[in-house]
Amino acid sequence: MIQSMFSLVEKIFFLGKLVLGGKKFRQGRLKTKSGVIDTPFFMPDATRGFVKSLSRKDLEAVGIGPLVINTYHLYLQPGMEVIRKAGGAHKFMRWEKPLLSDSGGYQVFSLIHKNPQLGKITDEKVIFRSPLDGSQHELTPEKAIQIQFDLGADMLVCLDDPPPNTFIKEKIKQAVERTIAWAKRCKIEYKKQLKKRKIKEINRPLIFGVIQGGEYVDLRKYCTEKLVEIGFDGYGFGARHMDKDGNFLAEVLEKTASFIPDNALKFALGIGKPEDIVRAASYGWDMFDCVIPTREGRHGKLFVWKKNPSLILPLEKGEKKSSPFVKGGREGDFYKTININNGKYRKDFAPVDKNCACELCRNYSRSYLHHLFAAKEPLAMRLASLHNLKFYLDLMEELKTPH
Ligand SMILES: [Zn+2]
Repeated sequence: MIQSMFSLVEKIFFLGKLVLGGKKFRQGRLKTKSGVIDTPFFMPDATRGFVKSLSRKDLEAVGIGPLVINTYHLYLQPGMEVIRKAGGAHKFMRWEKPLLSDSGGYQVFSLIHKNPQLGKITDEKVIFRSPLDGSQHELTPEKAIQIQFDLGADMLVCLDDPPPNTFIKEKIKQAVERTIAWAKRCKIEYKKQLKKRKIKEINRPLIFGVIQGGEYVDLRKYCTEKLVEIGFDGYGFGARHMDKDGNFLAEVLEKTASFIPDNALKFALGIGKPEDIVRAASYGWDMFDCVIPTREGRHGKLFVWKKNPSLILPLEKGEKKSSPFVKGGREGDFYKTININNGKYRKDFAPVDKNCACELCRNYSRSYLHHLFAAKEPLAMRLASLHNLKFYLDLMEELKTPH
């Protein structure tokens, strides 16, 4: 029997640091079987069991802690037989730090919403065809939890029904009801697996419910309340954090964070750009994951700190403080991005960021990186990914430092 759902999450408290209209960041600590993590924190996406173009040593050298892996992708390839035989995802990947496994719901539902011929969603389960070989598979809330136990992740996520934000309210309400019903089934299966595998309280993985409700604050509130009744270690913000026009759902994110009890973890799934992380953290979100730093890096886009970084984001022209949507797609006050492919870097012998301690900035010039990208040398993608991850880690440290 689990003593308390929150016993592994300690010291979640408010730090006296002012940003964004006087709101304070939360800071805390959680214990997992693979180590302690201080919040707020960022997790790179190792979706298919790897962070593209980076080795374990690369990730360790830059100081990466937890990683996100994806149930759906690993289930399809290499398949659970391989991972079970390897002794779980940690051993397979040779990663000793914490792993969070995403349920795969977002991938399966996106696949079906984009092409309804690839699957079928019922209240019982979701049936889908593998985009790799066309083979048919089914995912139930129970199976999603079982797979995540087989992966051996330190943090598990319930299977949910993430609707696109373009859906009408009635259809989003249906997704909310299904998400709640599936969260109940996930929790039951979670307890069953703990018992079956004889996992002690101190070693149990943390489990997260996912809050749906699209752009509707009332639905997000309802979903949160029902999930809190079931009881989880943490709660994630499900589906996209942008509306269909690409606007950041500031009010929805802020209110949803306030509905979650303060002694639970608040996971802003898939967020995001540096300024979105700062905003979301100021609303109380503790955990972030995103492909942006590595994906942008592979394309030669690098994040660079401005001279005197300030995490206070100015309101945009015409943006009201109470505006429900904060315009997305702009850079913050504290950093800029450079596209190293630009010809102006051909003879620029300065480091990408002279204040950065990553392998790229300590050893090479902008000119050399420009050359590597021009020559399509894979080392370019590796170095740029490492630099961007270091930028994100430094950003999280900034959030923890009282100013
Ligand atoms: Zn760097």
